[in-house]
Amino acid sequence: MTRALICGIGGQDGAYLAELLIAKGYDVWGTSRDAEAASFKNLARLGIRDKLRVESMTLTDFRSVLQVLSKLEPQEVYNLAGQSSVGLSFQQPVETLDSIATGTLNLLEAIRFTGKKIRMYNAGSSESFGDTGEAAADEATPFRPRSPYAVAKATAFWEVANYREAYGLFACSGILFNHESPLRPARYVTRKIVSAVARIRAGSGEKLRLGNMAIQRDWGWAPEYVQAMWSMLQRPEPDDFVIATGESRSLREFVERAFAAVDLRAEDYIEVDPELYRPTDLAVNRANPSKARQKLGWQAKYRMDDVVRMMIEAELAPR
Ligand code: NDP
Repeated sequence: MTRALICGIGGQDGAYLAELLIAKGYDVWGTSRDAEAASFKNLARLGIRDKLRVESMTLTDFRSVLQVLSKLEPQEVYNLAGQSSVGLSFQQPVETLDSIATGTLNLLEAIRFTGKKIRMYNAGSSESFGDTGEAAADEATPFRPRSPYAVAKATAFWEVANYREAYGLFACSGILFNHESPLRPARYVTRKIVSAVARIRAGSGEKLRLGNMAIQRDWGWAPEYVQAMWSMLQRPEPDDFVIATGESRSLREFVERAFAAVDLRAEDYIEVDPELYRPTDLAVNRANPSKARQKLGWQAKYRMDDVVRMMIEAELAPR
């Protein structure tokens, strides 16, 4: 039985990846910074809380990382933990850099220190590319990060590449574009939108305040993105992959689709709030995921319209 350790198992991707690995017959373990205090509500929502085990681990503390790796001796480690909000990274730049860049470095060092053949997946981000304009980014596109979060993710990407090259570690980065689901916390704009749409439909009478709606992103469906993470660790050689749908659409289109799904007109409920604009933002973030299609056999089935529909359905469903 293969043992996997998912760092940040309580998050959106951690929960879906745990669900996938359990279905594949893995012995699944996960970490949280404080596993005793964590609610693991995403795991409960997927009905898998009692099918896996958890440990407390803080990526920024080398001893804590080494201790958990030595105790569990996993064959696969997935690094999904860290401060994951671009917006929050402008307010907490040090915490963001620490949890992502130092955290990933500690994990790589601990794997190297144990000397075990551990395969590692690292959660890279399309934010590292910065503004791509119309030229779709692939694995050879240079990084031009435009937020503390993106700087941290770009750093962690090169840490992984360096440890692979220098020490022969089986370590891969997935450069994932936005992927959404009902498990997204309310701070993220997609979940904020669908939650507001559901409340407005129920008669709340509120307005939805948003920042720059012209931005374009590649919006995918999180449950299928975790399959790509797993596939990267099953290959004979470690490598990095862009994971995306290949279609970028504006935030305005996302909002319009969400309101249209409940027969309302977005323009009647939206208020643009300049305070929600970020100090620096990406106008367009465009992806070329063809390497993943060719080498992993992975391709996104769902596009933005599907994502909006499925998130609205989940938001309206009785819990
Ligand atoms: P989540 O925010 O849902 O989960 C991340 C987990 O990391 C949390 O559950 C939390 O676990 C832990 N965490 C949060 N803040 C910190 C912190 N300051 N220091 C250390 N740990 C922290 O993220 P997702 O599941 O959406 O994403 C998984 C990974 O993929 C993240 O690294 C994210 O940056 C990256 N990514 C996500 C994309 C997306 O569209 N979702 C796109 C590209 C990359 P706990 O509180 O239990 O310790």
